[in-house]
Amino acid sequence: MSDTVLYLSPHFDDVVFSCPLNLLRESKKGREAIVATFFTEGDQSKTAGDLYDTRNAENNEALSLLGVKGHSVGLIDAPSREPGFKTFPQIVLSEPDSDPETLVRIKEELQSLLVHFAPVEIIAPLGVGTHIDHLLIHEAITSLEGDVPPLRFYEDYPYASVAGAFQLRVAQLGIALPVQIHELSWPDFEDAFFLAKYVDQLLEAEDQDQVIEELENQWRHPPAVTRRMSCHELSNCSLKETSRTAEAANAYRSQLDTFFDVDRKREAERLWKIES
Ligand SMILES: [Zn+2]
Repeated sequence: MSDTVLYLSPHFDDVVFSCPLNLLRESKKGREAIVATFFTEGDQSKTAGDLYDTRNAENNEALSLLGVKGHSVGLIDAPSREPGFKTFPQIVLSEPDSDPETLVRIKEELQSLLVHFAPVEIIAPLGVGTHIDHLLIHEAITSLEGDVPPLRFYEDYPYASVAGAFQLRVAQLGIALPVQIHELSWPDFEDAFFLAKYVDQLLEAEDQDQVIEELENQWRHPPAVTRRMSCHELSNCSLKETSRTAEAANAYRSQLDTFFDVDRKREAERLWKIES
């Protein structure tokens, strides 16, 4: 039996948007990849039911293009789960301890996934972009007690495509900015943030000041640096790999208009290990 690697995806598209090349190469390394998606349900309405059915089908298509398997955990997506997670500021500025019940649920689900799949490694979201659902998964796996396999973290795309978003997240975690990453100043990040397609589509004009003031506060007053990170980078991919990973990302047809500009080329695909 081949070794299993467990990838944790908050929503249906996160792992495929963030680390498709790693997924594609797992089978070449003789490993089996399972993508466990956590927030796979909306509210009880027919519209929400249809949307999540569509997203599930898109996900199955993308995962099969990459030759990996999926697993749906069945938790409810932030805006349908909690009245306090409806707006853009609520979703990107809330801390994981604002939803303790979901945090406990995720930890229970993680424990059963560990028993069921016995993974040799876990690939989890770093939480770039600070979507509450991504932060909850990050917090749950990093604070899970007991025998947890080695962990690596992916940069959450499309949020990580905003220049400086990775730098901000690393600073929030008290991690030194890795040498591979060019350090940016606040105005660079502010400009890039407002140019991002998802920000343009989802952030209401009246919420802009609140969001940018809070992000600037976080940028300028990070916690003390106590940890470092090291990285494993995949950048030279073949034409066949490039077209296959693009095809997989394009399978998420219902999400592309919100999240991606036409040109979404990336320099490299990195997984990070946090060193204590
Ligand atoms: Zn997500």
